[in-house]
Amino acid sequence: MSSEITSALMPVTPRPSVVMARGQGSWLWDEDGRRYLDFVQGWAVNSLGHAPPIIRKALADQAGRLLTPSPALHNRPQLELAGELARHSGLERVFFCNSGAEANEGAIKLARKWGRRAARAARSSKVEFPYEIITTHGSFHGRTLATMAASGKEGWDALFPPVMPGFAKVPYGDVDAVARAITDRSVAVMVEPVQGEAGVVVPPDGYLAALRELTQQRNILLIVDEIQTGMGRCGGLFACRQAGVLPDIMTLGKGLGGGVPLAALLSRESVFCFEAGDQGGTFNGNPLMTSVGLAVLRTVSAAGFLPAVSQVAGYLRARLEALAQGLGCPGVRGQGLLLALILPKPVAADVVQLVFDAGLFLNSPRPELLRFMPSLTVTPNEVDAMLEILEPVLSQVLGE
Ligand SMILES: *Cc1c(COP(=O)(O)O)cnc(C)c1O
Repeated sequence: MSSEITSALMPVTPRPSVVMARGQGSWLWDEDGRRYLDFVQGWAVNSLGHAPPIIRKALADQAGRLLTPSPALHNRPQLELAGELARHSGLERVFFCNSGAEANEGAIKLARKWGRRAARAARSSKVEFPYEIITTHGSFHGRTLATMAASGKEGWDALFPPVMPGFAKVPYGDVDAVARAITDRSVAVMVEPVQGEAGVVVPPDGYLAALRELTQQRNILLIVDEIQTGMGRCGGLFACRQAGVLPDIMTLGKGLGGGVPLAALLSRESVFCFEAGDQGGTFNGNPLMTSVGLAVLRTVSAAGFLPAVSQVAGYLRARLEALAQGLGCPGVRGQGLLLALILPKPVAADVVQLVFDAGLFLNSPRPELLRFMPSLTVTPNEVDAMLEILEPVLSQVLGE
């Protein structure tokens, strides 16, 4: 065990008392050389695992060429990544930023500006301008003030008052509730295709498609937050496209950079209305990050990659379902390589700690839930190795 960790860091999150030193594929090593099988991967971030050669090469090549020309100048990796994301997503406009929260801030700004323009054009509108965005209970959209206000996490509104106005919350998965919540003030509906932080909550079939139809009918925008679900995590490149839905605005983050801070705001051409000065940022779209994003996108979208993700996801799911049945757990939910095992008791935190001590890094977004978000390149052998650690711990904790 490492000696005591003393640090000037703000202790904003509880962490085990080891220091991580290096990673390779699905494995992490701490400073004492202890090895951990990693089924968290940043936070569904390292889509290609730890230290993949393709990212090391992109970083090294670009670092030797050009780090940051200036946000006021073009760079080639940014142009190419924008073009390829537009082509794959069907959304014509792309803006790069450094975190998911920042991408969602951009989505909120774009929707508000679009609403204001639409109201001005219509003149007949009863409100001066619409601005309200309908979001869902339990949703997670980030930790800035606006994205916390947009999020439906219980207790958050009380943390840093006053809460930014402009968000209405409805139950997740309920299209009628959204329909009832739309007023003259509404400008958009914003949802995750699968709620990640809420506990891998999968909506009823057809939810996104019904929201698409509803928002089109009522002439408001559909914003899809694909920060956790996108870039292959749920089996397709984008979960909404997998569901046959083209949103007006989409946000990406996490897996997009494969481990480096990179996020994106995408929109339809018809919705794009930022003018010079409306949106920007010092590090946005710098070639070091976008060259990595390009390497990740080309890998994930290459022929055969996503079918392989679906295959190993099917294997992980089947093994978790067998485990659930054997131990009397209520079940498994999720999509692709974003899966959760539901426990019959709120013991997930104990399980996470015990498996960590045994060399497995897992996450529990809720007291009765274990979340699995391994590298998209995880192998069936690594799934077996994970279960070899998890199974005895789980049967011991549930047997107590
Ligand atoms: C992680 C996450 C965010 C926030 O991204 P950050 O990079 O942490 O700011 C937003 N939305 C969803 C769905 C997420 O999972």
